[in-house]
Amino acid sequence: MARNGILVDYQYCTGCYSCEIACQSEQDLYLGQWGVKVLQNGPWPVKDTTGNETDKYVYDFIPSFTLQCNLCPERTAKGKKPSCVHHCQADIMRYGPVEELVKVLEQKPWQYLWVPPQG
Ligand code: SF4
Ligand code: SF4
Repeated sequence: MARNGILVDYQYCTGCYSCEIACQSEQDLYLGQWGVKVLQNGPWPVKDTTGNETDKYVYDFIPSFTLQCNLCPERTAKGKKPSCVHHCQADIMRYGPVEELVKVLEQKPWQYLWVPPQG
């Protein structure tokens, strides 16, 4: 049977945390339990076009899935996207068969593919 997963283009994650809340609501999780948790890294100085550091700083954000994630089978059985994918404000997550997502993964760096054990 084809395995499904979520492809994350984390280069454009804005750190809005909508995915965290969408999952907690969908999965009815308790406070402190997460199906996906957004990690914050930084701040890092922004470099100008010559490679020199400016006085501006940015954070990197990476949504990190946990073993609580089951890919929202009740939603996907109805043809809906997983809740976190549906609510991602930057539209950087894509759900589908792993073999199709791998093709997209090969086209661009700064992405990763999440495939849970029950995916
Ligand atoms: S796919 Fe569903 S269970 Fe997994 S993190 Fe997203 S909302 Fe939570
Ligand atoms: S909803 Fe999307 S943009 Fe917002 S933190 Fe989650 S992955 Fe990043």
